Amino acid sequence: MTASKETHVFQTEVKQLLDLMIHSLYSNKEIFLRELISNASDAADKLRFEATKDDALYEGDSDLHVYIEADKDARTITIRDNGIGMNRDEVIANIGTIARSGTKEFFGQLSGDQEQDAHLIGQFGVGFYSAFLVADKVVVTTRRAGLEHAHGVRWESAGDGEYNIETVEKETRGTEIVLHLRDNADEFLEHFRLTSIIHKYADHIPFPIRMLGTPKPVEEGEEEKPADIETVNQASALWTRPKSELSDEDYNNFYKHIGHDFEDPLARLHQKLEGKYEYTLLLYLPKRAPFDLWQAEAKHGVKLYVRRVFISEATEDLLPRYLRFVRGIMDTNDLPLNVSREILQQSSAMSAMKKGATKRILGMFEDMAKQASDENTDYAVAWKEFGNCLKEGIIEDNANRDRIAKLLRFSSTQSDEQTVSLESYVERMVENQDTIYYITADTLAAAKHSPHLEVFRKKGIEVLLLSDRIDEWLTSHLTEFDGKKLQSIAKGELDLSKLGDNAEEDKKEHDEAVKSAEPVVEKLKAALGEKVKDVRVTDRLTESPACLVSDQFDMTGNMERILKQAGQDIPSVQPILEINPEHALIQRLAALESESDVADYADILFDQAMLAEGALPEDPAGFVRKINALLI
Ligand code: ADP
Ligand code: MG
Repeated sequence: MTASKETHVFQTEVKQLLDLMIHSLYSNKEIFLRELISNASDAADKLRFEATKDDALYEGDSDLHVYIEADKDARTITIRDNGIGMNRDEVIANIGTIARSGTKEFFGQLSGDQEQDAHLIGQFGVGFYSAFLVADKVVVTTRRAGLEHAHGVRWESAGDGEYNIETVEKETRGTEIVLHLRDNADEFLEHFRLTSIIHKYADHIPFPIRMLGTPKPVEEGEEEKPADIETVNQASALWTRPKSELSDEDYNNFYKHIGHDFEDPLARLHQKLEGKYEYTLLLYLPKRAPFDLWQAEAKHGVKLYVRRVFISEATEDLLPRYLRFVRGIMDTNDLPLNVSREILQQSSAMSAMKKGATKRILGMFEDMAKQASDENTDYAVAWKEFGNCLKEGIIEDNANRDRIAKLLRFSSTQSDEQTVSLESYVERMVENQDTIYYITADTLAAAKHSPHLEVFRKKGIEVLLLSDRIDEWLTSHLTEFDGKKLQSIAKGELDLSKLGDNAEEDKKEHDEAVKSAEPVVEKLKAALGEKVKDVRVTDRLTESPACLVSDQFDMTGNMERILKQAGQDIPSVQPILEINPEHALIQRLAALESESDVADYADILFDQAMLAEGALPEDPAGFVRKINALLI
């Protein structure tokens, strides 16, 4: 045991976070109290949970609460809890470093725009360090429940890059935080100011937050009476209260507490379910994607309670991974309090809850989608933030695939915005159309200008334009909707002969074109050799000379590029070159005699088709040289 005072320096990231916070959040200083109360409440939760296994941790005091005191003379605010407390190692690990994964990415995302950064910082969890918004010196004295009195720890810092730590005697378990206020923070010494912040942010905290009340009025000649200690907040778990008693504000404040967010949520659901299993859901959809949504270790956002006792942080046992952005709580009576991870994973109560919650969250999305209009853009916002997660759902959640498919929104040849649902696509299908057509590309622009679309434009057939990375995987799992096949227009042979006004005539024309193009097709095959799987005449093109397609069961060029960019060593798939025999360039090629001229033309044709897909020719410099030779 080290009794002496030691000086430590903050981890670089802590220093950075402190600086940022003070600059971005100066207009919202009051959140320090929310954060410190929230930590005290977490500490009480943890103690209550550990005490279910070891009653002695209560040390004879099971009245869990937070006590807040302001001292106008000393200009300090003290926040005291009798929760789990911390030992020396925990103090060093928890307040002095940021152990969270994704810290580096977080700093990378900051834009310098104050408002935007304030959101990110909020999401990241400003937590304990927000104390320095109002204090220029913070003293934490804490003792972990169950340790001897001599094992208390005092931590002290001016937030300027280092902190002191020493071992002290502490009789009561739990944590006391003393804030020595900055010159401009005097407002927080006012009783009314403090109580109104507590109401605003902490009414729903399930532990009493106590303060000394205002002194009682004294009659002439009477002795001064000490003020009573009063409980400021509601002190009951919000989700157990009847809906009728709860205002939007109550719900939103609870969300901000549990979701570490500054903004109100986009949507919520609060339901008590009574069937084979009994549980309560209070779940929220944030307005913005959490900063770590796309990181491998993204935190889930739903906490598990058993009979109002906090059990565990969010895990994949509570909700499927693709819904990791949902925030909130689930509370059940059907699990034992001392539940282990293994029991959780196997319990049928858990899987029933997970299924029920998933269903209701999808229902929440459906409701928003139904209400979507020019005025109500909630679903558009939700789609923008979480659409790609729902696409993961198509891949991950077989049981709900059909429901999720209806929630998908795409761009199409009818709309650049991602507003086209599969249902609305199907409604707009032309006569005899039994297939949903789409194209995948690296960007929306590349998809939109792809030569593959030419014939669809001509025939007035809508095509979905897919340009998110995940779309390649999505379409490999979503092969059908409403009994209609989904088909990439850059794959396989295209048969549009039944569609459009001049179907029969088109078919005849095509057959004739194939026949008369035989010589040029042979020329191209010979010139391109191994580069292509096949060369054939196409109906796809009306303006371009050629395009590349993949065989029906090969991966698309786009997929191949994505995998290669991701560092995967996969063999190249040979594309099929399709040509438009009516195009002047093809006709010129057909007339060429010299073998080397044919070879150059063939290469240019192939490379152009590559470029039109948004990809680079294999030998870009060679391509430029050949083009220039032609131009001169
Ligand atoms: P977060 O609450 O998101 O984990 P904070 O910065 O608010 O981040 O707190 C960091 C950690 O410090 C907490 O996770 C907890 O382990 C510890 N801590 C903070 N306040 C207390 C407290 N009052 N009692 C016990 N532990 C605390
Ligand atoms: Mg916290």
